[in-house]
Amino acid sequence: MPLSKVTYPFPIDGDVHHIFAGASLDHWKKAAMRNGFTLLGRAKDRLHVVLGCQSCGTATLKRVSVVLGHKPECPHCIHTRRAAAAQSIGATLIGADPDGDRHYGLFELDCGHVDRRQYHRIETAAAGGHKASCSICTEERYAEEAQCHSWTLMGPPVRKGQNYRNYQHTCGHAQDVAVVNMRNGDLDCAGCGETWASKPSEIYILAFTIPNLSVIKLGYSSNSECRMRQVQIDPARTCGSVLRKIDIETGHRAICVEKALHSHIRRNRPDLVVPPELFRAHLRTTSEIYHRHGKPYIEALLDAVENGWDPRIQDAIAA
Ligand SMILES: [Zn+2]
Ligand SMILES: [Zn+2]
Ligand SMILES: [Zn+2]
Repeated sequence: MPLSKVTYPFPIDGDVHHIFAGASLDHWKKAAMRNGFTLLGRAKDRLHVVLGCQSCGTATLKRVSVVLGHKPECPHCIHTRRAAAAQSIGATLIGADPDGDRHYGLFELDCGHVDRRQYHRIETAAAGGHKASCSICTEERYAEEAQCHSWTLMGPPVRKGQNYRNYQHTCGHAQDVAVVNMRNGDLDCAGCGETWASKPSEIYILAFTIPNLSVIKLGYSSNSECRMRQVQIDPARTCGSVLRKIDIETGHRAICVEKALHSHIRRNRPDLVVPPELFRAHLRTTSEIYHRHGKPYIEALLDAVENGWDPRIQDAIAA
């Protein structure tokens, strides 16, 4: 059967298509109708039909077999839905995946980076009301976190899983380290033998502003200023600062004292604990956040630690 010289008077999926002379069968029309389309005619070859979407009014080319045996979908409606999902989380759908994977699209994220993303991930993020994380920004943050502890981010892990990266120490040795351990500086160098447990550390009080609330974070790190910067998702809004820090001889002692202080505060001043749902969207931490008015109380605890008080012993007696 012949392909006519006459084209459809409207674009089909953005292209000009020639009319294919031949009957449109009744059961094709019914199948199209059941799926929300009007069968407009045949095009390209004997295997294809032109459908008009009853939702958006746009024409699309489909195989007859898809119309009869599957659930044909309107690519224009899908594109509109995906673009709207992207927009609702501050991103822009730029186009199809440059690598040709139909599950991926190219997006400009709200940070300005352009990245391939799975469509369903963008739609899930939009449905959940959270932002699409940017892999470029994430790796930049991991590099900064490593720098705070005299390591350099080299790239993906050599042997370990996706929560790890490969880092190089100032001594030249490179190894895989869990991202969360690098963040806190909790790692030992297998090259020169430097261990976090024996390195000097600090216990800090950081201050942040989250919408309508002033909070403080109590924690430990070998580099409190770095930690303060990293914990903020949008520093311009949370305006972090280091209020106080005390030196602790070793990382090992810092983690023990810090844990004991948190359980001491939870037991004696549970009113100071800020529920995670209030800060989760603004600070990269899961707990350890207290109301700002608790500062004098928590500072008094740090004074006591500096004067030789061991909150672990206190805990042992109270328990
Ligand atoms: Zn449509
Ligand atoms: Zn980014
Ligand atoms: Zn080393």
